[in-house]
Amino acid sequence: MYEQFGIDEKIVNLMKKSEDEIKPIFKEIEEVCEYNSLKVLKAFQDNNISDMHFGTTTGYGYGDVGRDTAEKVFAQVLGAEDCLLRNQFISGSHALTVALFAFLRPGDVMLSICGKPYDTLDEVIGIVDNPSSLKSFGIKYEQIDLNENDFDYEAIETRLKQSKVKLIEIQRSRGYATRKSLTLDKIEKVVTFIKNIDKDVIIMIDNCYGEFVGKYEPTSFGADIIVGSLIKNLGGGIASNGAYIAGKKELVELAAERLTLPGEGKEVGPSLGANKQFLQGLFMAPSVVASSLKTAVLASKMLEELGYKVQPRFNEKRADIVQTIEFGNEEKLIKYCQGIQMGSPVDSNSIPEPWDMPGYTDKVIMAAGAFTQGSSIELSCDGPIRPPYIAFMQGGLTYEYGKLGVLKAISRII
Ligand SMILES: *Cc1c(COP(=O)(O)O)cnc(C)c1O
Repeated sequence: MYEQFGIDEKIVNLMKKSEDEIKPIFKEIEEVCEYNSLKVLKAFQDNNISDMHFGTTTGYGYGDVGRDTAEKVFAQVLGAEDCLLRNQFISGSHALTVALFAFLRPGDVMLSICGKPYDTLDEVIGIVDNPSSLKSFGIKYEQIDLNENDFDYEAIETRLKQSKVKLIEIQRSRGYATRKSLTLDKIEKVVTFIKNIDKDVIIMIDNCYGEFVGKYEPTSFGADIIVGSLIKNLGGGIASNGAYIAGKKELVELAAERLTLPGEGKEVGPSLGANKQFLQGLFMAPSVVASSLKTAVLASKMLEELGYKVQPRFNEKRADIVQTIEFGNEEKLIKYCQGIQMGSPVDSNSIPEPWDMPGYTDKVIMAAGAFTQGSSIELSCDGPIRPPYIAFMQGGLTYEYGKLGVLKAISRII
């Protein structure tokens, strides 16, 4: 069958050899998957999920028992007091934006302690001018960069003791930066450190791409709020859109009143058929995240064997589902992404090209032959067209499909 996809025997042999060597890593991934699956099932049973929860509401969305119960299930799985889980969120970036506007007031300081946040937040914060930014409302932004892939504890302590910071943002995944993603151990340590200096500062985690990679989420060790996208990990490839904000009850309530309106908050918001998708997506998510991780580990191993600089390396502890490959030149980056597209179930005959995407500063190439537009829990690969020409690959609904995509992409660069 691989021959029918135009994949050379040499590449298939390299894949087989690589698979032998990464077996122990796969075992660890399966163990985490098992743990998270049980956690999900427990939450379904504790909340008596039944057919009635798959129903839907329209209009205002009052009394949507499926929506309200799905929020309880997500909160339990995430180790959070409460959760706002809505299809009214366009995406993760929108949920992050709603959270920031909900918690910050004029004169407040927002501090990022892992360098510049994800590119789509530039105009939200006002790092790039926009008349609707937080900055335009008089909210100040400050940033402390990472120090050799860990937090700069000294700088954080100095800043917190200097004057009041309202909110600290920590981004678990690397986004389009060249830094490493932050492991749960590192985040737990810094959260404890910060809370010892100022227990009232709101710690908000951009949890995108991190869910179910480990056995717990940052909310379980004291982060106040976590935010993520449902067209990534927790949607399990089933949710058609949406995002979540989970954590402390009063903060989730503030976010709800910003998403909808003051006085109505979580009580409104029609689910329009999303309840079953959200629950089924969560049900599949541990296994889908495991497939994505296996796909990433295989790609890491094979591309390293072929002489490319990869991050993480196949046997490194992973903090998210993202695999980066440094190509060093534009053409290979583009070809690799095109190869991923060719291995997709949808639009496999389209050839992606770099373009000026809204919200991003450089040209970006994005490959995703996905059932859901822009879904990156489905195998996808993208990269900003700037040196050192790094591809950011993630997703894979099943390992077998993910593997085919990787083999096709490798074929195209060889
Ligand atoms: C993907 C991503 C986002 C934004 O999520 P969208 O659903 O694409 O808007 C934010 N932060 C990080 C780290 C991400 O990887």
